[in-house]
Amino acid sequence: MRSSKLYNHIRHFSSQQIVPQICIIGAGPAGFYATQQIIKTLKDARVDILDRLPVPFGLVRFGVAPDHPEVKNVIHTFHKTAKNPNVNFFGNVNVGRDVTINQLRKAYHAVVLAYGAEQDRELHIPGENLKNVISGRQFVGWYNGLPNEKDLKIDLSVDEAAICGQGNVAMDIARILLTPIDKLKNTDITNYALETLSRSKVRKVWLIGRRGPLQAAFTIKELRELIKLEDCETQWRTSDFDQVRDYIPNLARPRKRLTELMLKSLDEFPTIKSECKNVLAPVFFRSPVEFQGADVVENLRSSINELVGNNIAELTAKSTDKYEDIKCGLALRCIGYKSVQVDPNIPFDSKNGRVKAQFGKIDENFYAAGWLATGPVGVILSTMTNAFEVSKLLCTELKCEKSKPGWKEVSSLLNQKGVQIVTYNDWEKIDQVEQQRGKAAEKPREKIVDISEMLEIAAK
Ligand code: FAD
Ligand code: NAP
Repeated sequence: MRSSKLYNHIRHFSSQQIVPQICIIGAGPAGFYATQQIIKTLKDARVDILDRLPVPFGLVRFGVAPDHPEVKNVIHTFHKTAKNPNVNFFGNVNVGRDVTINQLRKAYHAVVLAYGAEQDRELHIPGENLKNVISGRQFVGWYNGLPNEKDLKIDLSVDEAAICGQGNVAMDIARILLTPIDKLKNTDITNYALETLSRSKVRKVWLIGRRGPLQAAFTIKELRELIKLEDCETQWRTSDFDQVRDYIPNLARPRKRLTELMLKSLDEFPTIKSECKNVLAPVFFRSPVEFQGADVVENLRSSINELVGNNIAELTAKSTDKYEDIKCGLALRCIGYKSVQVDPNIPFDSKNGRVKAQFGKIDENFYAAGWLATGPVGVILSTMTNAFEVSKLLCTELKCEKSKPGWKEVSSLLNQKGVQIVTYNDWEKIDQVEQQRGKAAEKPREKIVDISEMLEIAAK
């Protein structure tokens, strides 16, 4: 049923010789996968992908950890899509600032917002502005060369760091802080981060979760990597695991395997006489209530929580009137990302930090995909599934009654504003320089972190 409807549309386009003009905002996984699906379905469509940065790939470049190079292989698929003659990448175009949503909707038959979630959620507790209380998002951006974060002020000359949150971003950060520097030096981590991390004095990393082991947000692969780190011991708290074993038979398989791994690691611990240099200290049932210190953070005060509710996976944390203090000279807040409204004409749910859409549809010929639509959860695979679904819907619903100017109109608006457009060919020049610079240090690349330098190379 759906496919015959789709076929009618395609025929309708070709007989009228109207080229469907589609604009995707954001060159991360959602943007690329949406494009892939659209060009597969609508053979004669032209798809333009706009990104605020001169370089593509979103969090695959600026989020995924440098010691996880295999995850970045998705870039090969994105490259293939970008090389399709009906697809264009136009970087250095900040939608909402350089061009408005209404201008794009006027110029194109359909617009897909896929601009991700570029802010971080805050705890809104006292002391959050103390020095060395850093957002996880910024720390990740710093080591991955996100231009905005290259000058992040972070002091690693402290013994103990507390990470608030137990998602996979928290796990990535704990691993980067505890990994021997030799293991990072041949990755695409930025040189300045490598240099700062090589002088790091951080020896103990607390990983603080508000709920219990049975609700932990991290996944098994990330936990396994952390507990297997060289020269690092994991110190679980036995009391956090009271009754946990009783629940094991009734847990769903992924949760069961994750819990068994935690228990195995807990059981091994007392029998091993450790001479490790570093310590990972996961702590459950604690909610941060105050960062304390005169100018720089010195202590994290957390409430001791109990869990309430019926369904074991969905229990929520409730503070008691008891507290625990954890000494730390560095605190990293890793409690999730949030999206922003980049243009007043995007219907937006500010409370939850996401666009208002139903199954990815915002309005007629106006869609949202990826983290902007789903909220900042899920891995690249789930983002792909979502982007495919949304673009299938777009292809089914698309109406192209008259020709639209697409990029022709938008490029002239951007020219008037003096915006330098970075094409995919331009990106390939930047890519070449980065790979060349990485060679000497046996790294896959040395990322360029300065936008003006990127633009200079692009213009050559
Ligand atoms: P993004 O990847 O954020 O892409 C959004 C794009 O929009 C960016 O390129 C941005 O520059 C652009 N943009 C923003 N604002 C504008 C604007 N105003 N105008 C134009 N363009 C704009 N998943 C895995 O499977 N494996 C991992 O190892 C992994 N590691 C991760 C590590 C971190 C730290 C994080 C945060 C996530 C990780 N993920 C991982 C999840 C994965 O990155 C996401 O599922 C995926 O990137 C979401 O894709 P997206 O396209 O919605 O958003
Ligand atoms: P996340 O998985 O949602 O984890 C957020 C963490 O913060 C949870 O532990 C959550 O606890 C806690 N939290 C939220 N609000 C809090 C509050 N007010 N006070 C205290 N704690 C709070 O988010 P994320 O780590 O940002 O990851 C986002 C997505 O990217 C995830 O789907 C993740 O899997 C993915 N990712 C994957 C990888 C990888 O594959 N290696 C790496 C990084 C990210 P509760 O559980 O109690 O809410």
